[in-house]
Amino acid sequence: MNNQLRKTNKCVIWTRVSTAKQEKDGGSLEYQKKLCLNYAKEHKLNVVWRDSEQESPFGGTHESAKQIGKLCREMINLVKKDTSISKIICSQFDRLSRDRGDAIKLMDSLRAIGVTIVEAISGTDTSDSTAALLACFKFSTATLDNEIRADKFYNGRKHCYESGAYTGVLPLGYTRKDPKTGVKTKSLNSYCYLDDKGQKIRFAFAWKLQGYTNGEILDKLSRMGLTITKQTLNHIFNNPFYAGKIQSKMLDNGMVDGKIEKAVSYMDWLKIQKIMSDRAGWYKHKKHVEDAPLKGDILCAECGKPLTAYRQKGHWYYKCNTIGCKFNMSAVKLHAKYQNVLQGLEIPRELCALYEEMIGKVIKEGNEEKVRQTTLLKKERTEIEKKISACTARYATGEISKDIYSSAITAFETRIREIEADLEECGEILSNYQKRVNDILLMCSNTSTWWDDADYETRKRIQKLAFPNGILYDRQKCNYRTENRNGVFDVIDRISASYRHKKEAPSEEDASSCAG
Ligand SMILES: [Zn+2]
Repeated sequence: MNNQLRKTNKCVIWTRVSTAKQEKDGGSLEYQKKLCLNYAKEHKLNVVWRDSEQESPFGGTHESAKQIGKLCREMINLVKKDTSISKIICSQFDRLSRDRGDAIKLMDSLRAIGVTIVEAISGTDTSDSTAALLACFKFSTATLDNEIRADKFYNGRKHCYESGAYTGVLPLGYTRKDPKTGVKTKSLNSYCYLDDKGQKIRFAFAWKLQGYTNGEILDKLSRMGLTITKQTLNHIFNNPFYAGKIQSKMLDNGMVDGKIEKAVSYMDWLKIQKIMSDRAGWYKHKKHVEDAPLKGDILCAECGKPLTAYRQKGHWYYKCNTIGCKFNMSAVKLHAKYQNVLQGLEIPRELCALYEEMIGKVIKEGNEEKVRQTTLLKKERTEIEKKISACTARYATGEISKDIYSSAITAFETRIREIEADLEECGEILSNYQKRVNDILLMCSNTSTWWDDADYETRKRIQKLAFPNGILYDRQKCNYRTENRNGVFDVIDRISASYRHKKEAPSEEDASSCAG
């Protein structure tokens, strides 16, 4: 259907950074613009700027929304009206939108009006339908890679938490020190100690147990030189950190013993929770339901509510609790059917080699981006370290007060911790190239077997990747409905179908497989 394509030499450039942090670095946006501009020059295209005096491209600022935002719509409206523009150039396809569904829809709709999207970094464009499919695939793979990675990274963090190391920002009254030397440190092996304020907070807990009201406690604290608000005091009393516990969403709201000096014993802390709420129990540890890993993920097609699970005579069952639904079914049966669904999502074996190559390419390009990011982050870290030395020197010579010094240092240290977490993530990404290709391929080609062998966590992960919004079970049809599946599988289907179609009828032009 290439006859509909606009054939002019005018184009627009689209750039986007996904976080305010990247925007601050600046380099990223400039770099994107440069890549796109080089492409335009090489292909003798005239660029239509958003602001021609400044030569500013479309997008260009921080668009945090997952959806295609206002700035992108502004550009699309222009290319719809101005038929002399034939191309949109972006540095990489994933700059169009972070949301896969949106980006693919956008590619399809632009193709329909004859506009081509070009990826400057690789030269791929959407001018014919096979290339458009490849673009969709690249986008999907990049997103899937992110999802799998985010999960892994998260698991790494979780491990940290489980071992009692606390990596987040410390609550009021704590400072991190090396337990051997007593020197302040940001290392993960450090221990959290109560500082001067923390010692006063210790009194607050004791007073609370003795029956003082919060107002009286605030009064007493302020006479000791610690002035805080009512809300802060409430947060302190509610926070199990002061009882030496780390609580985190990452731990499914469970708690572990942290490397923390306690301001109150855990038993006393529990008593305070009772005093405060009269309703004990919210802090209970949640337990995994090991043999019903789909609990909460299967949705009843009748009422849309997630199924719960229960155990009877050693067997597990899923159940819809809605009055009127009264649906329950054995876990064994529901799991077998679920495995069939996963099998249906797998990449056909004969296409594995093709996909492996495609996935490899996508990830390699992503790596180049990460190398650039790493350089920027290291540069920023060095600058902050310089600032810390400068600040320390000024404090030593009495140029600045202790208060100013401490607050500046805290801010610097927080930023350095963030940078180090990002660097750690980048490093992990770069070192695991082949493993990531394998992971994605495995995820897409062997899902059902993988699921069968997997532990609870992995099963949850697979479910989250395959059906991020839950999977519907239709009791009338006695089977699952798969319309909620991850968009990556739609793209894989389209590519597989197009590939088979070509193989069967090599002479025929592949027509409209990317529409809709
Ligand atoms: Zn129901």
